[in-house]
Order: sequence, then structure tokens, then C-alpha cells
Amino acid sequence: MTGQHTAWVSGLIYDALRRRYNGLCHVATLFYAAIMMRAEQKMWQCGSRVHATCCRYASLFVVLLIGLSLSGCDIPQGNRRPAHGIKKPPAVGVRSPEFKQCAGKLSSLGARYTPLPDKNYGGGCTAYGALQLDNIGVPVTRLGPMTCSLAQHFTAWVRYGVRPAARIYLGSDVVRVDSFGTYNCRRIAGSSRLSEHAKANAVDVAAFLLADGRRISLQNGWNAADPRQRKFLRAVRDSACKRFRTVLSPDYNAAHHDHLHFDMGGRGGYCR
Ligand SMILES: [Zn+2]
Repeated sequence: MTGQHTAWVSGLIYDALRRRYNGLCHVATLFYAAIMMRAEQKMWQCGSRVHATCCRYASLFVVLLIGLSLSGCDIPQGNRRPAHGIKKPPAVGVRSPEFKQCAGKLSSLGARYTPLPDKNYGGGCTAYGALQLDNIGVPVTRLGPMTCSLAQHFTAWVRYGVRPAARIYLGSDVVRVDSFGTYNCRRIAGSSRLSEHAKANAVDVAAFLLADGRRISLQNGWNAADPRQRKFLRAVRDSACKRFRTVLSPDYNAAHHDHLHFDMGGRGGYCR
């Protein structure tokens, strides 16, 4: 085997490896196997030659190159273990680590809940990583599926935002929260985009029933003559702005004149 010949074949192999051109890689490997056999035959005759050591090293070099080319060739997936570093796709929904972590926080807030199976309703409407809140200390009407992070922040808002504000501004305890619901497969009014409600990632709150029998609604209380009602409703809105990513109140537009909308979509920090 001449030096020119070796350089040409080496170029062929490395080019195949570099381009990951599988067919050529295998052809080159077979070609090398043939050369190796020829070189080994020559090696046995090397003993009678002057450059015997050179012949043996050349043979060893050829064998090493075969190993290199084999390691560079792609092997059909069925016969191959996954390459190091390639991981399974991450778990989503109720099986995800994020859900488990969130569920732990929800439990530590004292909430009772039932995880719901992940659902795809079609048309982009889903309820992944959702749960049903069973008890957060205060009854809440019309709560359907909620993503865990929404449920977690809602629970904390009722506990640390709504209840203390009612005592401070209205001198009474909240005994019920009335909502307009959570999951709803619909688009944002006046837009082609799906609402966060279509992902079980939003909740609408309409009113608060107090222990003294008063019912403070967004519709009647936001601009009520009684300043305590106005202050209470703005205090619970401002508390929500620290917890949810998006908060829309009657200040936002006419569509929200009778409820507070909270969701965990978008980049956050939207509070009106
Ligand atoms: Zn809403």
C-alpha cells in the first residue's frame, strides 16, 4: 500500500465521518477490511524485508482506522442504545414535576383538591395539569377545572387577600365567594385568540357574601356610594395583582364591569 493510496482512503473515511454520510461510511469500512486482509498477508512477508517494523505498524494503523470508521457509522436505531444525553420527552400535566411541586404547596395552604385527568377538548381547548378545588376554607361557587398554579394562587388570594380585607374594610368575615367559573372553551371577546379560560387557566370572581348577610358584588360595589365597599374591592384587586399574571377589573373595560378576571397566562404583571 503506497502513501498516496493511504492518504486517499483516509480522506474518504474522514469525509464520510464528517458528513455523517452513512452509505459511504459503510462502503469505506468494507474497503478497509479488504485492505487490512491484504496488509496482514504482506505483514507475514515483512520478515524478509528491510522495513519489517514499518509493515507491522502500517497494519496496526489500518486496524485502528477500521475501528474509527465503524464507530462513526450510523447503526439502525433498533440495534442501538440511545446516545448519551438524549432524554425522554418531559412529562406534562398531572404527571409533571411542576404539578407535584405545586400540589405540595396547595396542600401546605390547607386546601383539599382532586387531581383531574389531562384532557384535550379539541380546537386548542385543554385542561392539562388541572384539579378540582374541594375545600379552601371558604366555599366558592362554580369552580371547575383549574390549573394547579391558578388554584394555588387563588387559594392564597382568598386566604391572605380577601378574608383580611373584609375584616379591615367591612368589619365582617367572608363566608362565600361567588365565581362565574373557570374552564370555558372560548375566544377572547373581540379577538381570534383563545382565552386562558380555554386552558383552565383563568377564573372570574363576581361577589363576596359576608357573615352579616351583605353581598358585595363587583357589579354594584365597584362604584358604590359606600366608600368601604369600593376600598374593599380595590384592595382585593390589588392583592390579586401580586399573585396572578393577569388581573382585569371593571377598570379594564365594559366586559369586566361585573367581575374580576384572574389568569396565569402571558408574561405577567398585567393589572388593570
Ligand atoms: Zn375571565
